[in-house]
Amino acid sequence: MLIDNGHSRALLIPESHNLSGFPEGISGRDYLSLLREHARFYGAALIQGRIEDLQKTPEGFAAHSTNTSFAARSVLLATGVTNKRPDIDDDTHAKALGRGHLRYCPVCDGYEVSGQNVAVIGTGDRAVCEAEFLRSYTERVTIISNTADDFDDDLRRRLGRINAAIRLGPITAINLRENGLEVATADESEIYDAVYPALGSSIHSRLAKILGASASDDGCIKVDRHQRTAVKQLYAAGDVVYGLDQISVCNGQAAIAAVTLRNDLGEERPLLWPLSSGARSRGS
Ligand SMILES: Cc1cc2nc3c(=O)[nH]c(=O)nc-3n(C[C@H](O)[C@H](O)[C@H](O)COP(=O)(O)OP(=O)(O)OC[C@H]3O[C@@H](n4cnc5c(N)ncnc54)[C@H](O)[C@@H]3O)c2cc1C
Repeated sequence: MLIDNGHSRALLIPESHNLSGFPEGISGRDYLSLLREHARFYGAALIQGRIEDLQKTPEGFAAHSTNTSFAARSVLLATGVTNKRPDIDDDTHAKALGRGHLRYCPVCDGYEVSGQNVAVIGTGDRAVCEAEFLRSYTERVTIISNTADDFDDDLRRRLGRINAAIRLGPITAINLRENGLEVATADESEIYDAVYPALGSSIHSRLAKILGASASDDGCIKVDRHQRTAVKQLYAAGDVVYGLDQISVCNGQAAIAAVTLRNDLGEERPLLWPLSSGARSRGS
């Protein structure tokens, strides 16, 4: 069974052009519908709900939502992350995303902003790395610190090397315009074709941590190369583990986790196709 409370990051993808098999592109919403249809077709139960607590039991696990409990021999956590947003109201945020003026994944869609006037919101190594990455697609990259935080000498040197403009925050307003997203600071206002917030993410690893699984300093669940966490029969895949946050990577990790999970279950109790009535087992 799949228990999901429906806030996939993929829902924010207006149209992805880097998913194998979809040369014309596909929206995140349509892609998720296909995945659900696929899972249902092969018998998975899809349950809308949020798991608040996960406990070990003698048989495996008990997962508790506010009003129901589910028993499982194994659990795969694919709980994802949530990108931290700049201060924009929900409606503007959704419209800006839909029009491609607000973006969260340079690796996914950087080529779509080729030659455009692009801003990265953030500071520190993360934001500078994004600016450096985007600079391979356009010569017009500006980095805007969300707070008054300055950039240290090293970061300024790196930004100088790619000829990126620096604007110091705090940001006072972000408004959607016909031709882009307007970002205002105390002394300046500019419209960008595309704005990439690089403000970090909240990583949904709480359920793994409750059970004592290890996590990195930033909160990603640690797994071995078979997607096993430090807790027996608990696996993790997707953005919630450390790696390139891409659907193709999530799918690959999920495939590895599924095979490992099945094989581990077989170690515990052999997985055997039931004997048909009348058939004699070998050796009898
Ligand atoms: C704007 C944008 C554009 C992107 N474009 C692309 C692209 O073009 N190509 C690409 O490959 N990737 C793209 N990505 C990245 C891609 O969306 C993610 O890598 C992918 O969705 C991660 O999948 P996941 O299953 O790990 O997490 P998610 O898709 O985020 O799913 C996690 C699910 O777990 C649920 N959940 C969390 N905690 C609980 C709980 N306690 N109980 C029940 N449910 C829970 C959440 O509600 C959510 O539905 C983009 C991301 C964004 C934001």
